[in-house]
Amino acid sequence: MSFSNLGLSESLLKAISEQGYTTPTPVQKQAIPIILNGSDVLAGAQTGTGKTAGFTLPLLQKLSQMPESKGKPKVKALILTPTRELAAQVAQSVAIYGKHLSFKSTVIFGGVGINPQIATLRRGVDIVIATPGRLLDLVGQRAIDLSSVDTLILDEADRMLDMGFIHDIKKILAKLPKDRQNLLFSATFSNDIKRLADGLLRSPKHIEVARRNTSAETIAQKVYPVDCKRKKELLVQLIKEEEWKQVLVFTRTKHGANKLTEYLQNCMINAVAIHGNKSQGARTKALAQFKNGSMRVLVATDIAARGIDIDQLPHVVNFELPSVAEDYVHRIGRTGRAGNEGEAVSLVCVDEKMLLRGIERLIKKDIPKEILDDFIPDPSIKAEPIQKKRGQRGGSNGRSNNSKPRSKRSGDAHNASPHQNHRRNSSNHKK
Ligand code: AMP
Repeated sequence: MSFSNLGLSESLLKAISEQGYTTPTPVQKQAIPIILNGSDVLAGAQTGTGKTAGFTLPLLQKLSQMPESKGKPKVKALILTPTRELAAQVAQSVAIYGKHLSFKSTVIFGGVGINPQIATLRRGVDIVIATPGRLLDLVGQRAIDLSSVDTLILDEADRMLDMGFIHDIKKILAKLPKDRQNLLFSATFSNDIKRLADGLLRSPKHIEVARRNTSAETIAQKVYPVDCKRKKELLVQLIKEEEWKQVLVFTRTKHGANKLTEYLQNCMINAVAIHGNKSQGARTKALAQFKNGSMRVLVATDIAARGIDIDQLPHVVNFELPSVAEDYVHRIGRTGRAGNEGEAVSLVCVDEKMLLRGIERLIKKDIPKEILDDFIPDPSIKAEPIQKKRGQRGGSNGRSNNSKPRSKRSGDAHNASPHQNHRRNSSNHKK
């Protein structure tokens, strides 16, 4: 199967081949014909599956088949994303795939000046990619007219709900014409997502490319049990000994991200933090440095990392496990993207044993454990509850957070499980 079998126009096929894509990914194979057909879609697709092209290509094709309207372009397609980074990335995809077409698109998110956005909208655009908060601000200022929207796409809908955007989404939906095509993409399917889909989609076609809530098969996962206080040392050892060149490290909090970054820098490892307290400029710069290889380690919180798109990212490290098990799937989706192999490593201390269990239940498999000789956990350390920091899930676009607290508390002491694999079991333990 090649892209030319999917009914796409020459202009799109040209842009696809310029990207070097030869074969559509499974989500593209399924989604493109259905979307071209005009059906609503409920798609279960993790990031890294090629879902962005899966909805962008047929969207552009549909727009190019619409009769040309006179005067300024009107907003015909609206793509909502949870974060600025994802919005920027989707906008980039729209620009890349649409480079041989003449549509005008723009990206809208908070944290940057609103006036240039208003000016762009005034000149007229066909496609808007937006985070919900800033879009609503613009709607409130009557700077954008959504009454011509023909296609609505909710990308990473699960994350939008996690970030408390449901009310904003409902307000936006109320501004759209009733007759339109709706596409909902989500990596996971909670009851809240099902409710949103039920209210939004009309006889949707279901697309499922990876089993729900399971981690991609191409990702090698491993857990290193280690004492909480020694995680930093272990991380430095892994980066240096294994000669990791490009590592995305997740921490649970912004403060944790800053502290770890400082420690890595003191150990002569090039590292930068990316999280919601950083300015948009600093985040964009950090991401660019990480992508081009000049920054070895990017330390990120979950929200900030959403939408980061880096091909063949070889290493993802969970310095701390996420409090919400689904976030583990999102995190490790950063590696092994589009069929490339990746490695996801989790440093797990006694406090996180219950979180690990929750993750293993969700992905329906045990993650192999490996205790390093120099980092054998001290069995006398008892588990302590994990403090959930306020504003942790507050979002990278600065919007308020009204999602329910969902952290699980760990309780019991940590014991090595029977299938743990002891490595480098020599007598000279360095402590
Ligand atoms: P996404 O899941 O949309 O974030 O896409 C993941 C990555 O896969 C992006 O870097 C795309 O550029 C890449 N990609 C998308 N479609 C294809 C394809 N058909 N062949 C190879 N790479 C692709």
